[in-house]
Amino acid sequence: MEKDKIKKRMDELYKLINYYDEKYYIENNPVITDEEYDKIMHELILLEQQYPDLARQDSPTRRVGGKPIEQFETVRHEIPMLSIDNTYSDEEIKEFDRRIRKLLGRTAEYFLELKIDGVAVSLIYENKTLVRGATRGDGFQGDDITQNIKTIRDIPLIVVNDEKFEVRGEVYMSKFDFERLNRDKLKAGEEPFANPRNAAAGSLKLLDPKEVARRRLRFFSYAGFFQKTNPSTQQETLNILKNLGFPVNPHRKLAKTIDEVIEFCHQWESKRHQLDYAIDGIVIKVNNIRDQEILGSTSKSPRWMVAYKFPAEQATTVIKDVIVQVGRTGTLTPVAILEPVHLAGTTVSRASLHNFDEIKRLDVKIGDRVFVEKAGEIIPKVVKVIKEARTGKEQDINPPEKCPVCHNPVVKDEDEVAYRCPNVSCPAQIKERILHFASRRAMNIQGLGERIVNVLVDTGLVKDYADLYFLQPQQLEQIERMGEISSKKLVDNIQASKNAPFAGFIYGLGIRHIGERASEILAEHFSDIDEMAKATEEQLAQIPDIGQVAARSIKEFFNNPANIKLIQKLKEVGVSTKQTQVIKKASKIAGKKFVITGTLKNFSREEMKTELKKHGARVSDNISKETDYLIVGESPGSKLEKARKLGIPTLSEDEVLEMMKE
Ligand code: NAD
Repeated sequence: MEKDKIKKRMDELYKLINYYDEKYYIENNPVITDEEYDKIMHELILLEQQYPDLARQDSPTRRVGGKPIEQFETVRHEIPMLSIDNTYSDEEIKEFDRRIRKLLGRTAEYFLELKIDGVAVSLIYENKTLVRGATRGDGFQGDDITQNIKTIRDIPLIVVNDEKFEVRGEVYMSKFDFERLNRDKLKAGEEPFANPRNAAAGSLKLLDPKEVARRRLRFFSYAGFFQKTNPSTQQETLNILKNLGFPVNPHRKLAKTIDEVIEFCHQWESKRHQLDYAIDGIVIKVNNIRDQEILGSTSKSPRWMVAYKFPAEQATTVIKDVIVQVGRTGTLTPVAILEPVHLAGTTVSRASLHNFDEIKRLDVKIGDRVFVEKAGEIIPKVVKVIKEARTGKEQDINPPEKCPVCHNPVVKDEDEVAYRCPNVSCPAQIKERILHFASRRAMNIQGLGERIVNVLVDTGLVKDYADLYFLQPQQLEQIERMGEISSKKLVDNIQASKNAPFAGFIYGLGIRHIGERASEILAEHFSDIDEMAKATEEQLAQIPDIGQVAARSIKEFFNNPANIKLIQKLKEVGVSTKQTQVIKKASKIAGKKFVITGTLKNFSREEMKTELKKHGARVSDNISKETDYLIVGESPGSKLEKARKLGIPTLSEDEVLEMMKE
């Protein structure tokens, strides 16, 4: 009986996986995320291990990739193109190392490469010429896509080497081109791709090479098999490929110990978003080719390499509702309320939909199952609707006719995509303006959160941010959960913010289009707010990195008498409206919050702190969610571990010095 149930579940999994494979490999249109797919695949692997007699010969656990497709000629690979086993933790990487040492009877050096999230291809060269380009297919047979491959500019058509050889590598699409392609697809009423990998795979299978050329695919090579040349290591192979004119990813490294391997994996886990192409992990390869041969392969993957996979950044979930938020400038932003889902270490229950044009473009409805993605940004976004999951009960999402907070009719500027509430006294806008003014990068008033601002505005105690400075502890004590001590503390914090840096003050004013960076630049340029208010639009636009749009917006702000009155009120209560700090120059690190761990080479910690502060950066002793970078010296402490957990990028001493120069 028990076994019947197991068999039923296994049959279900076979069917499901075959369906998902078809969607993924043939249509390039997945209906579940890779993580969800890996989970059911893992379930099947475990069941097959436990009940080998129930395992099917044609099980998806035994095959690589998808079937070749009919439109292209099928070609055989001389050397099979296998898959790579995955690891997800430090412990599993160490386990891989233990296995290698056991099999070899000694230690091995590892070569580390980024795992580019694209599509594997095989390129054959004969008589100095590219003669064939093929997809991996099922690992033994793939599609002949030579004509499409020839449109990829990174791939040399002619080489100097006249022996026969095969190059393998990853065809990928840059994030920039991926977004452009998806925008075009949505505009044309077509379904977008879920990620750059599907986009690259889909593009390679187009039947018109001219269309492929327009997709601007790119290429990185990572393997070469030569008839005569005989490299002895993976590192040497890549150098040979590079010399032959093949692009080789620059971020590669020879690691002598497994700790170095782990360090590299974590480093890239936090730096991955700095790249203009997607990577989904690190490939760890035994460097010595003789050792690779000794270790050999299973039917599915080589034993001498393993992939360390980064935590997934996509999940699928259902949109339960859409609410409209009112920003400090009145912009109405639709926000999707999601069925809570676990994503990259947090539970996500909201996602941005940007604006109502985006909703139309994505064709998203309430009740839809969607892909959500959290790729480096704080707020996840809805990437794509899974149309296959529609039941017909989904509801359209329309822009509101009235502001959801003050009920004023909404407006839409001709040249802007956003709908706006035009009422400057809309309580939602006032609240947002005050929260922005008090935020960390602005006046940094600790303890003034949403709950308290809501009460202050709703009771009429505060009508603009200057009113904050008139608050007395006794008034705050009336607010629920605000005791005597916390009320006094908050008033102290408000008073202390009078001396906030000039850049923070400018940022806090909440001028449209003036973000943190622009505020830093303006604070360096003007010695006080009056000088800034007097500048003409032309003068403002000439300041490097300010530009026409921001200049116009600054002018509009100061042309409004209400704003001038507000600034006057701030001055009267003693808020500093001028430059007091001596900032060396507007470096890239200005305004960023640093923490230091370990011993530095050229500076004591105090010296480094002073240097950072001179460049307008802030330094703190403890890692928190607010930290922007951790500087790591020799023998780092527990801060490094904590930073990794929070996904905070790390920098070496040299990298910080470089950033100070930029
Ligand atoms: P994989 O793509 O995770 O890893 C193997 C591939 O990594 C190689 O073929 C190669 O193309 C690539 N690679 C990138 N950089 C490399 C480098 N430096 N060195 C060597 N190789 C490098 O594994 P796979 O077997 O190709 O595909 C399985 C993946 O596809 C899984 O992650 C699975 O989740 C996903 N999948 C998803 C669905 C779905 O419905 N979402 C369906 C089927 C498969």
